[in-house]
Amino acid sequence: MAVETIDLIGRTPDAGDLADAFRRPISYLRISVTDRCNLRCTYCMPEAGLPWIPNADVLSFDEIERIVRAAASVGVRSLRLTGGEPLVRPQLPQLVRRLAAIDGIEDIALSTNGLLLGDLADELAAAGLTRVNVSLDTLRADRFEAIARRPGLERVIAGIDAAVAAGLAPIKINCVVMRGVNDDELLAFAALARDRDVYVRFIEMMPVLENLPDQRDRYVSADDIVARIRASGTLAPVAGPGGNGPARYFAEPGWRGAIGVISPLSHDYCDTCNRVRLTADGRLRLCLFGDYEIDLRTPVRDGADAETIAARFRSGMLIKPERHHLRLGEVASRMRAFSEIGG
Ligand code: SAM
Ligand code: SF4
Repeated sequence: MAVETIDLIGRTPDAGDLADAFRRPISYLRISVTDRCNLRCTYCMPEAGLPWIPNADVLSFDEIERIVRAAASVGVRSLRLTGGEPLVRPQLPQLVRRLAAIDGIEDIALSTNGLLLGDLADELAAAGLTRVNVSLDTLRADRFEAIARRPGLERVIAGIDAAVAAGLAPIKINCVVMRGVNDDELLAFAALARDRDVYVRFIEMMPVLENLPDQRDRYVSADDIVARIRASGTLAPVAGPGGNGPARYFAEPGWRGAIGVISPLSHDYCDTCNRVRLTADGRLRLCLFGDYEIDLRTPVRDGADAETIAARFRSGMLIKPERHHLRLGEVASRMRAFSEIGG
């Protein structure tokens, strides 16, 4: 059945493309390639790490490729590789190369903490990566170590420079804002957007099990963030760099980049949701929060063909919820779901 709506990246969907029960065209797949990470950000995971998914349960590159082929056959056009930390997955550029060769895939982005980006940016760009988001919550080395529970600020900055040099610009920097932790750096981050071709996106801290005790005290709303930066200048809404993200952007005249805010709590973006997620162990997650998911690993390992996997994507459209109902101080039942925020 033809879908009459216009999709969010400006494309008119073809007949047969995915759209959910609320007529939202789904053209964007976020792929977690590992749940492991080389940092331990306090708002994200405990110092000891998580009960990691056993290696045998993690999708192989072949399996991811088969799933993406099926997804592309029903209208998925954009991919984002995420984690955990995607760059700790060995040989990631090989996966990028394979996914970039799939008919219909137009855009492959990466969300990374940037620690390994200096070594890999050239190879990733050559393999077909189009864009990169780098997480960076502070510009101060001591604070970086306190938030990430590991040192690394210099390596992240070197990673950002390497990504620019490799042509992966415009770079988006993702900064989780925490009251009393890094909210005194809002203007320093805004200065980065003023002076460099970067989009600094401030993210409202989301509730996960690891940070729930802190969440109410640390939470700063997107409106508060914009007001605090606007107080020192003439910030006005501007168009963003494109892509699939939910950010709203602002800049002052003459800035090279812009700041953005991502506000899953204060202004959710469910109305325009165009995405689904693939977990490292092969579950198709239909919403960031809640347990709406479909197992893809079993059929893939049982040898299902592309049409059967595509049918699972279509089934997913029936259970994709209209919106999440998360509020400040609450935690959804499965809080590992957050791991795809911030793209
Ligand atoms: N490791 C990569 C990174 O840090 O960019 C990719 C995965 S990480 C989970 C994706 C994004 O989610 C990052 O920008 C991170 O800052 C953000 N994030 C993680 N936990 C969050 C939370 N509790 N609230 C808001 N954003 C969070
Ligand atoms: Fe790792 Fe990213 Fe989570 Fe930080 S936010 S612990 S870098 S997965």
